[in-house]
Amino acid sequence: MQPRKTVLDIPPYSPGMRVPGKIKMASNENPLGMGPLAARAVADSIGELHIYPDGGAGELTRALGAATGLDPACIITGNGSDEVIFLAAAAYLNPGDTVLVADHTFSEYRFSSTLMDGRVHTVPMQDGFFDLEAFRAALDASTRIVFLCSPNNPTGTIIPFASFLAFMEQVPSDVLVLMDQAYAEFVDDPDYGDVVPLVHRFPNLLVTRTFSKLHGLAGLRLGYGMGNPGLISVLSRVKPPFNTSLAAQAAGVAALADHDFQERSKELNRTGRAWITARLEAMGLRPWHSQANFVCVETRRDARALFQVIMDGGVILRPCGSFGLPGCLRISVGTPEQNRLCMDLLEGALKTVPPLS
Ligand SMILES: *Cc1c(COP(=O)(O)O)cnc(C)c1O
Repeated sequence: MQPRKTVLDIPPYSPGMRVPGKIKMASNENPLGMGPLAARAVADSIGELHIYPDGGAGELTRALGAATGLDPACIITGNGSDEVIFLAAAAYLNPGDTVLVADHTFSEYRFSSTLMDGRVHTVPMQDGFFDLEAFRAALDASTRIVFLCSPNNPTGTIIPFASFLAFMEQVPSDVLVLMDQAYAEFVDDPDYGDVVPLVHRFPNLLVTRTFSKLHGLAGLRLGYGMGNPGLISVLSRVKPPFNTSLAAQAAGVAALADHDFQERSKELNRTGRAWITARLEAMGLRPWHSQANFVCVETRRDARALFQVIMDGGVILRPCGSFGLPGCLRISVGTPEQNRLCMDLLEGALKTVPPLS
């Protein structure tokens, strides 16, 4: 049997590694786990798991509407925001259409587009920041989707509201702009603004977010997309009927109501992120000043070699070779003890792994 040619062209996803007994600071999960209200909702859902979930995720969609200020018709939920990205490519790409993707960003955009037989045009970033002028210059008649990510994975950098708005005003209205905000809740830079209300003004804007990071529900798989009702109804057509589970929907509603857990998670991240950044700078490195729940740093060494030494010491990090940054390590913010152990291990590893000349 021969799979479609495109399928053979797709490289396997490279996930953060997991090894029993080692501390995982590789996938930007919440070090506090999930919140107590979400945990109770999952436990309570057990008695109902023999019935199908609400395919439209009505209660969750209404709760998301209340939380974001949008009408529920502007929201679609997905099996992780990964799935919403996938739905966008499935709904809008004809074979041969072009998508624009940055050179050092999340791999899902390239994956979904390639699977739909789209052509991926890579746009260079500027020192870890999105270069929207380069994106604008790369637009042509074949461009169907532009993928942006803010805060960006893996650099943690943001796109300021003002530059994003100026970009949206220049993009033709038949080009979908997907703004991936998986880490939006961790941002404290006032320049970030709030792009969500722009979905009313730009029918070609889709903003995605997730319950995997702040809310600690990565294993349940729950994300959502926000856009104009017309766009959302098109995505709904390609959505599998029961794409989010009953347990995930219940957990999502509870997580949105758990403000105490959200605040504790943000505070732990804010202090840990600043502490890790300061330690890296004290080692003579220049980390990006991240707005997410991880810190990325250029080590001027083979990051895989550092990763190996640090893993032998008990902590799993993410070397960024698969993001096209072979000298960079991405460090998920953990608990204070985990952060300290991780930085001590890195400091030691920098002495054993020689700098690249
Ligand atoms: C983690 C992450 C996601 C979230 O994926 P889920 O499918 O919602 O778990 C989306 N985009 C980026 C950039 C991410 O880093």
